[in-house]
Amino acid sequence: MGDNKKKVLVIPNIHPAGIELLAARPDVEYQILESQTPAEILNNVTDAHAIAVRTALINGDVINAAPHLGVVARHGVGYDSVDVATLTKRSIPLAIAIHSNAVSVAEHAMFMLLSLAKQGVYHHQETRAGGFAQLRGTGRGVEIADKHLLIIGFGRIGRQVAPRARAFGMEVSVYDPYVDKEIIQRAECRVITDLNHGVTQADAITVHTPLNDETRGILGEQQFAEMKSNAFVINTARGGVVDETALVSALRSNAIAGAGVDVFVGEPAPPTSDNPLFSFDNVIVSPHSAGVTQESLKRTAIEMIQNVLDVFDGTIDPAAVVNREVLGRYD
Ligand code: NAD
Repeated sequence: MGDNKKKVLVIPNIHPAGIELLAARPDVEYQILESQTPAEILNNVTDAHAIAVRTALINGDVINAAPHLGVVARHGVGYDSVDVATLTKRSIPLAIAIHSNAVSVAEHAMFMLLSLAKQGVYHHQETRAGGFAQLRGTGRGVEIADKHLLIIGFGRIGRQVAPRARAFGMEVSVYDPYVDKEIIQRAECRVITDLNHGVTQADAITVHTPLNDETRGILGEQQFAEMKSNAFVINTARGGVVDETALVSALRSNAIAGAGVDVFVGEPAPPTSDNPLFSFDNVIVSPHSAGVTQESLKRTAIEMIQNVLDVFDGTIDPAAVVNREVLGRYD
């Protein structure tokens, strides 16, 4: 590597638009790894000033094998795969791509909601199986206009869902005790302060919180028991925010009308015979793909690389840094 150039180790695969940003910087060199095996990473990290990583594990061994490391940037918002404690001990910021996929996830929640309302999975299966004539006049679908959507968690994604649901004529309520009520009201949504009461009113509920001790099972047995029998429940947040066992029981007893599930407690989610959620025709599932679209992949690659360059330049937005406490220490 050349003199005084900073080396960015890129651990694949990322959209070429991110690489173009690196190529445009004369003060930066980059290396794109062929594979992401631990040995390949360890062998190439020694002279890295930055690691830009999609999914590979960045553990203490990798971090400590890179004496010049000044930033780790992740492709996306999750960082379970990175040893933050070791980074913090060495005053190295971990940057995440916070702006890139909120629209993709919000659209996915709307897609699941519309699919549930219009009986998408059932109609698709039955029409293909020869049921056209019998099904045509049955009117199983419902409208979402004038129905009541409850959004739990009003952060980046929840705030993108609200205007989309409003555009379909829905009334929208929000439960998020950590967001100012004015922000919720300005978005033309009703503030819900008691979740257990909120769930009794909703025709559809969509969760957009992180998974933590407070949100694990935020929709559980007790909440399902209070829901309207026509309610749809959508989880594009994290497996476990909606209690899966309670969800399956609610579906089995027709306590709710259907569910959309993009995220599972165990991922990859096992095939049909082992997973009751895959056996309902009023459940639509997807493979944790809500945030991954062609547009978001490009934006995420650009945002991740920009985060690396911003740390190099001293202009990183603290909101993008997980271990913000190191920022004062970084030079
Ligand atoms: P965010 O941090 O911007 O917003 C989360 C919101 O949840 C915050 O407003 C916070 O106040 C609120 N919240 C926290 N605890 C709460 C509680 N107990 N009750 C109600 N609200 C609470 O996060 P985001 O970017 O909007 O992401 C939301 C979720 O979506 C995260 O779990 C994230 O991992 C997930 N996600 C999924 C995908 C996917 O592909 N399925 C993609 C991106 C993000």
